[in-house]
Amino acid sequence: MRKKIVAGNWKMNNDLSQTQTLLNDLKKQVLPENVAIIVAPSFTNLYAAFESLRDHKIEVAAQNMHQSDAGAFTGEVSAAMLKSVGVKTVIVGHSERRSYYNEDNSVLSEKVNTALDNGMHIIFCFGEELDQRKAGNHYEVVKEQLEEGLFHISEENFKNIVLAYEPVWAIGTGETATPDQAQQMHHFIRETVAENYSEAIANQVSIVYGGSVKPNNVTEIFSQPDVDGGLIGGASLSAESFMAIVNAFQ
Ligand code: 13P
Repeated sequence: MRKKIVAGNWKMNNDLSQTQTLLNDLKKQVLPENVAIIVAPSFTNLYAAFESLRDHKIEVAAQNMHQSDAGAFTGEVSAAMLKSVGVKTVIVGHSERRSYYNEDNSVLSEKVNTALDNGMHIIFCFGEELDQRKAGNHYEVVKEQLEEGLFHISEENFKNIVLAYEPVWAIGTGETATPDQAQQMHHFIRETVAENYSEAIANQVSIVYGGSVKPNNVTEIFSQPDVDGGLIGGASLSAESFMAIVNAFQ
């Protein structure tokens, strides 16, 4: 049985007091036992989030991390720094990092290595852009992103990975992949993992979907056999809509 995961990527939203309010709202909720729940606040709010959620079921993740251990990288944050504030999971490869900060597959593979070397868990994001889907290249693009960014890791390390398929054309646009489109891609991703590793690993890895998941479309998406949860942007910014998504697994 694969782990079900719902993660909220808060992106560059919420100052400290807004973060605390949202965390307090989430802590008031009755949480399902069968779903792992993760929130990813901004760097400045990670420690407060960790403290607030100490001994709580909800886990805290960072949205990014630098690939080097330390040094003259103004404005960057290292794995050791994340771990020192209690963060053990990091999102790597979000399409906003790929497109606005030129993070290519090669840099991302270094980030993956650094995170794993530091014993961290990774939510590895990838997905095609609209023109790539229109041209029918979406499977190729996704395969390349996985092969160049992630598939150098060992079988043993794969247990620390969650795959997050996020078609760029569905992020923040209100346009979501249809349940069929999500299922077809997730199935392809699982097959690709099986080809590069093994059936066992492919069956064990959680593959979550991201891109305009909302309370009103989540049930159909989550009911697809290869969709093991979601990476939620906009709808994770209110406890009510985030919980409606988390509870879609019930
Ligand atoms: P939206 O849910 O706002 O489309 O964002 C998805 C996303 O990018 C999560 O990482």
